[in-house]
Amino acid sequence: MIRLGNYHQIYQKLLAITSEENVMVNEYLKNHTYTQLGGKADLFVTPTNYEEVQEVVKLANREDVAFTLLGNGSNLIVKDGGIRGIVLSLKRLKDITTEDERIIAQSGAAIIDVSRSALADALTGLEFACGIPGTVGGALFMNAGAYGGEIKDVLYETVVVDRNGELLTLSADELDLDYRTSNIPEKGYIVLEARFQLKNGEYDEIKAVMDDLTHRRESKQPLEYPSCGSVFKRPPGYFAGKLIQDSNLQGKSIGGAEVSTKHAGFIVNKNNATATEYISVIELVQRTVKEKFAVSLEREVKIIGEDMEEPAKVD
Ligand SMILES: Cc1cc2nc3c(=O)[nH]c(=O)nc-3n(C[C@H](O)[C@H](O)[C@H](O)COP(=O)(O)OP(=O)(O)OC[C@H]3O[C@@H](n4cnc5c(N)ncnc54)[C@H](O)[C@@H]3O)c2cc1C
Repeated sequence: MIRLGNYHQIYQKLLAITSEENVMVNEYLKNHTYTQLGGKADLFVTPTNYEEVQEVVKLANREDVAFTLLGNGSNLIVKDGGIRGIVLSLKRLKDITTEDERIIAQSGAAIIDVSRSALADALTGLEFACGIPGTVGGALFMNAGAYGGEIKDVLYETVVVDRNGELLTLSADELDLDYRTSNIPEKGYIVLEARFQLKNGEYDEIKAVMDDLTHRRESKQPLEYPSCGSVFKRPPGYFAGKLIQDSNLQGKSIGGAEVSTKHAGFIVNKNNATATEYISVIELVQRTVKEKFAVSLEREVKIIGEDMEEPAKVD
């Protein structure tokens, strides 16, 4: 935990930047992650405009306090011990505006809502994103994609805050977007806004594509439970889901976490799982597949935060 003295001081300084309702103390992150996993953040900050984000970054630098950026938590697992320092959530920055064939979306907007907004204006290009449960910021971070489309195809510009708290407008090329990666983690950018270039299309055609993709997802993925999507990367020459299926792991559970019976590549939080249980299931899958097929499954999802502290032993 950050020291009490610092904690009060930093809390007060945060209140000088944004209003009290935007600074939560000891906030459970499982309330803010799609996986519904994660212990407490010391300070959970939800800025309401770009200047506040810049000021929080500058404060964290000045005071040497760690800060962690959270999107919708649909591609990461926060451990049960939570996260020390400041956790920044941009969920209050979620405006979506359309200008001709362009959509400007703030980073906390759900990428699903951006694709619905494109549909409403009969703009084509973002159909692929209609079932990805992340934010705009999280989608740029990993160049999210599905069914042959990806962010790289439609992004033309972005507004970010750099490590020094400075606002930059970058062209899409400057993010080095590639298969499920970007240079955002390396550069330490905080995405504030994404600008998409779409094309005029036919409402009915766009809707038909989105309905089809939604149907394909709903029939294959266990969307009725919280999860972090596909847990593992595709190992060269294999399919992770098939290896897991052939290892008879579907339905195996530890506590409230279970290898999905519907899609072997998913681990679901079926019944109030802890992050420890969820991670134990990931490790069980990795161990078993390694023993049976000599294939190492690499995680696609990130694990962040700290383990729960063991209670002190009494002699
Ligand atoms: C059911 C399900 C289906 C999924 N299907 C797909 C799919 O088809 N295709 C696909 O690509 N992904 C898929 N995913 C994974 C996930 O939804 C995407 O990776 C999504 O882009 C993550 O966004 P997020 O806001 O949840 O990010 P988080 O999980 O919160 O964060 C992921 C990373 O992004 C960083 N980040 C978040 N916001 C910002 C920001 N504003 N600026 C800079 N960095 C930021 C975080 O710090 C973190 O390192 C799926 C997940 C689930 C649960």
